[in-house]
Amino acid sequence: MNSSDRRSDVLVMVPGVMGSAPDGAEAFHLAAIDSPQLLVTDFVATRGDGVFETLGAFDGTLVNVRPHLERLTRSAAMIDLPAPDLEVLTAALDAAVAAHEPVRELTVRLSLTRGVEGTDEPTCWIHARTAEDYAPARAGLRVITLDRGLSTTAPATSPWLLAGAKTLSYAVNMAVLREAQRRGAEEVLFVSSDGYALEGPTSTLLVQREDRFLTTPVSAGVLPGTSVTSAFDALRAMGRQCAEELLTPAQVKESQGAWLLSSGRLACPITHLDEAELPVDRELTARIGDAIAGRS
Ligand code: PLP
Repeated sequence: MNSSDRRSDVLVMVPGVMGSAPDGAEAFHLAAIDSPQLLVTDFVATRGDGVFETLGAFDGTLVNVRPHLERLTRSAAMIDLPAPDLEVLTAALDAAVAAHEPVRELTVRLSLTRGVEGTDEPTCWIHARTAEDYAPARAGLRVITLDRGLSTTAPATSPWLLAGAKTLSYAVNMAVLREAQRRGAEEVLFVSSDGYALEGPTSTLLVQREDRFLTTPVSAGVLPGTSVTSAFDALRAMGRQCAEELLTPAQVKESQGAWLLSSGRLACPITHLDEAELPVDRELTARIGDAIAGRS
């Protein structure tokens, strides 16, 4: 694409997400961001029924594409959607990044819905836009704990509650952020009803206890994070031990450091958890952030 044709906000519609586009259309195409693309009868509009992924692209390079697409497939399976065509999605993601004007950090959101009522054809689109300024979050977050109301056994006993699926029903995840703001904080750490630290509404918990780095087991009902996998790879290369382990909020408060990790914001150190102040290692935070951004 000619660099003068590049856009500041890119929308790619993907009618061929299931492998073949209806009526022999292209598998995906660039679409106008400022004209209507969705029908009001799409199940995502009427029920929030769909799944999504948010990827980061740093200096024009998408990070962890395969893990994100595999997680999308996992989330889709959890809500009984068929598996998307990962080759089509990979090409469509590349097209979205190529069509965007060059920026240091890009947020690329991929949505897959149950589609328009009565059609049995999922709707899929990719939206790429310049990332917001995450510098304040990367400097540190005041975090409060909030009860998620689900036990760590919920995935096994009540899989229909979709714990650990990245569904488009994120109203609760957004509501808790407003609750945090009302309480003078910026972020939330969900706690299970049986008393364990889980994850943030859009992030994975990483905790340093002595020389070990720990995250919440996926079996407890958290989203399997792509960022924590990158962070663990980098930490292991530095000779550190990493593991999945359940921790109580009290243990996080006494830790040597804790972070909320995600593909866009990278590594955000928790400066305060409720009333407790936590140590912050800026150099380690930067190294973990670089690993998540694919820079190391
Ligand atoms: N947990 C939840 C609930 C999320 O929504 C996200 C990402 O948005 C994450 C964890 C972090 O996932 P990743 O590291 O793959 O961005």
